[in-house]
Amino acid sequence: MNIPMLDLKGQYLKIKNEIDTSIQEVVDSCSFINGPAVHSFEKSLAAYLDSRFVSGCANGTDALQIAMMALELKPGDEVIVPAFTFAATAEVVGLLGLVPVLVDVDEQTFNISVQDIEKSISPKTKAIVPVHLFGQAAPMEQIMKIAKAHSLYVVEDNAQALGAKYKFSDGTEKFLGTIGDIGCTSFFPTKNLGCYGDGGAIFTQNSKIAARIKMVTDHGQKVKYHHDIIGCNSRLDSIQAAILDVKLKYLDSYSAARQKAAGVYRELLRDVKEVRLPQESDYSNHVYHQFTICVQKRDQLREFLATKGIASMTYYPLSLNKQKAFKEISVTRVSLANSEKFANDVLSLPMHTELDLDIQQVICNAIKEFYNN
Ligand SMILES: *Cc1c(COP(=O)(O)O)cnc(C)c1O
Repeated sequence: MNIPMLDLKGQYLKIKNEIDTSIQEVVDSCSFINGPAVHSFEKSLAAYLDSRFVSGCANGTDALQIAMMALELKPGDEVIVPAFTFAATAEVVGLLGLVPVLVDVDEQTFNISVQDIEKSISPKTKAIVPVHLFGQAAPMEQIMKIAKAHSLYVVEDNAQALGAKYKFSDGTEKFLGTIGDIGCTSFFPTKNLGCYGDGGAIFTQNSKIAARIKMVTDHGQKVKYHHDIIGCNSRLDSIQAAILDVKLKYLDSYSAARQKAAGVYRELLRDVKEVRLPQESDYSNHVYHQFTICVQKRDQLREFLATKGIASMTYYPLSLNKQKAFKEISVTRVSLANSEKFANDVLSLPMHTELDLDIQQVICNAIKEFYNN
């Protein structure tokens, strides 16, 4: 038995002809850099998200870095980030000489705590980076209110929840990534919309910020070879854009497949008292980048599943305050108890668009066997 976390091959084979044709078109055109495929995909994604501006870039980490650069944050400025996330969220903050201010996450949703954001704001605070972790929205309505009250920027790290929407209290809905001043995403192959290499994108609704983003991603130039600011070189590859333009059409069906698989896990694991199932918030649909449970004896369970050929992963085994890289440069003004607890008890089960009931039964039976029920 071999049950992997992912099945990228199975997903590819279902749309192989379309993908192969679109790759071949780019190769035939030789427009490898900033070719028509890039503009076409940016337009498609902007239409899908109902976002005024979409700009491709090289990866999700770059997207976050470019966002901070476009907002003209200065060394020493504080940026509030959750302590329970992938390191990239805070890494770019440190890289630019800004100060990551770590706050805790909610014990139900894994997402950034609104109360902690309020407690952590100082005169130096310039931005908040909510992460829509595991495929579900951070509490954006409250975050936007706090940001407005304190004149802070909001940069959404939407690497894990592309295609999910936020429902505001007045009934309006917006795609995640289009609510804050800037939204960032990643097209890393394992993300919900994955390409066949590295890729990322940045969204904004503000034309001034959009112009700044364009400049930063293109060596700080507006006019060729006239460099006004220090920028970088970060582009979405034409071949990746062509692949993404095909896959975007399937994103909603991919989200639906993940939601269906999540429903099956819920049903099969409902009565296992040692397992805490992921909580869905009432203001967002969950697109299940990960199906993450909290369990007793996590590491033993993981080993037990591995002996049966069943993959599982711990995202993330250390909260950022426990990471060497962040010890010296980060600031913490609140308790990070939930983040530290999750690092010890979260386990992500196989989750992808090609999961079927038989596989999920094997996984869940093994979990039940481990807990003897
Ligand atoms: C994947 C991910 C990133 C980084 O994206 P890359 O394309 O790998 O650089 C950033 N933040 C979060 C939350 C992620 O999951």
